[in-house]
Amino acid sequence: MSKINLLNYTLMELEDVLTELGEKKFRALQIFEWLHQKQVTSFDEMSNLSKPLREKLKSQTQIPQIEVVRTQTDHQDGTQKMLYRFGDGEYAETVKMVYEHGSSVCISSQIGCRMGCTFCASTLGGLNRNLSAAEMLMQIYEIERNSGPVHSVVIMGMGEPFDNYSEFLRFVELINHPHGRNLGSRHITVSTCGLADKIKEFADLKTQINLAVSLHQARQEKRAEIMPIARKYDLETLKSACQYYISKTNRRITFEYGLIENKTDQMVDADALIGFCKGLLCHINLIPINPVADRNQKAPDKKRQYAFKNYLEKAGIPVSLRRTLGKNIDAACGQLRKKEEEICKQ
Ligand code: SAH
Repeated sequence: MSKINLLNYTLMELEDVLTELGEKKFRALQIFEWLHQKQVTSFDEMSNLSKPLREKLKSQTQIPQIEVVRTQTDHQDGTQKMLYRFGDGEYAETVKMVYEHGSSVCISSQIGCRMGCTFCASTLGGLNRNLSAAEMLMQIYEIERNSGPVHSVVIMGMGEPFDNYSEFLRFVELINHPHGRNLGSRHITVSTCGLADKIKEFADLKTQINLAVSLHQARQEKRAEIMPIARKYDLETLKSACQYYISKTNRRITFEYGLIENKTDQMVDADALIGFCKGLLCHINLIPINPVADRNQKAPDKKRQYAFKNYLEKAGIPVSLRRTLGKNIDAACGQLRKKEEEICKQ
């Protein structure tokens, strides 16, 4: 029988686990604090538990571990990219970016992805499996154990978090918990390629979590060419889900818009984008697309990037042009994992 993975349990569930083990309920809170506040990796560190209880926990439960396979650092901007391996041998990658106000960690929510966006490396081999809430947490805790608390978390690594919705919500509940890591909702950003139904479900929860939507193209036909999800939820459906979200939460949505030469960077694309933004409380984040091996794509030159930005600005759209971090270390989604798999195959 496999051991109970304690890191995946909410405090209430942990109380049930302890009761089943014939222990007092209040032990759950102590263990929860050890796991999420102090982020220990062994039962022997849980000094307020008796030795027999620690032994019992060791024999029937586990604190899962991840292995750091490789760390790459961009010495110019401090960006770090970690390649992790989970117990079953699957790889996931996590990026830590350093900003003036503190560091931000970009975590993966799935191994691979089934959304099929043509510009993205994560989706090349399809979806292998979902990550559990514990596996999402571990990507952050491992970094915090090494270099201290992070300021914010973005779920923008490999995978589509809204395609792994229940574990994503469990992750939020765990990292948010006042007796746990206690990371405020406003310090969390979730990014989706546009699963409209889930955007509405998420809106109903009325959290303070920031929502980013990967738009990339505001012309339906053209968007469907680069993002298969657009065939399931067209732009009209997506926009109305976004309107619903804004009306429920009163929060601004960030639209991510990748600038891909000849595919999304024309002035007619900018016009469509302006039209899409009309009536939405939003901000556009322009991202010069990163090149990905096997994908024939590149970002337009700087001049064109700024022309696109200025055009939106003139139309009164709040917009920023993201500076690219981690350029020297393949920090675009899915790139490091893909390389590792290729190395392993040889
Ligand atoms: N599935 C979610 C979250 C993961 S992707 C989503 O689609 O939002 C995180 C962001 O990286 C998305 O905006 C995605 O479109 C973008 N992205 C993917 N490949 C990229 C590349 N090659 N260069 C720049 N951004 C990329």
